[in-house]
Amino acid sequence: LLTALFALAVGIAKAEEPEAEVQVEKHRYESDISKLRSIVIHSLYSQKDIFLRELLSNSQDALEKLRLTSLSEGSYINLDEWKGNITIEARKVGNGGQLIVRDTGIGMSKSELAKNLGTIAKSGTSEFLNKAENTSSTGVDGSNLIGQFGLGFYSTFLVSPSVKVSSIPPATADNPEPVQYTFESDASGDEFRVFADPRGNTLLEQGNCGTEVTLSIEAGSGNEWVLDNDKLEELVEKHSQFSSNFPIYLRKSSV
Ligand code: ADP
Ligand code: MG
Repeated sequence: LLTALFALAVGIAKAEEPEAEVQVEKHRYESDISKLRSIVIHSLYSQKDIFLRELLSNSQDALEKLRLTSLSEGSYINLDEWKGNITIEARKVGNGGQLIVRDTGIGMSKSELAKNLGTIAKSGTSEFLNKAENTSSTGVDGSNLIGQFGLGFYSTFLVSPSVKVSSIPPATADNPEPVQYTFESDASGDEFRVFADPRGNTLLEQGNCGTEVTLSIEAGSGNEWVLDNDKLEELVEKHSQFSSNFPIYLRKSSV
């Protein structure tokens, strides 16, 4: 793993605000990850909408994980006051825009972002690679393979050329003042970046911790349907039938 540090000037700086300097850690993907991601992208190009199922299932997992840890250890959060939920919001910018999926689940620290989203930490991955490499010749359905092995996050690259994940874990004795970090990766690149979120701990406005995935949808890419509220509503219905433990809100912005 190659790690380099460099400073990045961020932001469309407002006139009265000086440009913030953010330390960005660059990581090179392990070669298997690049392979994996391209298999996921190629075997699922005809079922692009599964990306939402995968994001919703990750959010449900994260919410459930927070609920369970709080039950057993009693320390993370007060469950009586907790509003475990998922918000989906499409923002149009010009002809393209962003799709944002946010949850108030367990969140990830800086190192967890890099490990969970940027490395192959799971057993069974090499088995998956072997099976998936034979997919085209055997006609095996790639989405079944992916469901079986749980490689869901990479399906976001089906609709978005660059994916951003901002996250913050709950405060603990070891980490009493957690900081929100952002993971950023491009579909074509072989590296990902991790940096302190220049916006600050924005996810704390909705809870004690959480995660926000931002997809960028480009005009002319054929993926503009991702920003359509009616289509989103239909997909949420379709993909959340069996996992209704936490409410899913579709926020309709007028922008
Ligand atoms: P899987 O869900 O099968 O583990 P994914 O590729 O979908 O595989 O996700 C990889 C990992 O990234 C998850 O196991 C989890 O640790 C982390 N992750 C993804 N999304 C979230 C989220 N919304 N909140 C917290 N952790 C997440
Ligand atoms: Mg998953």
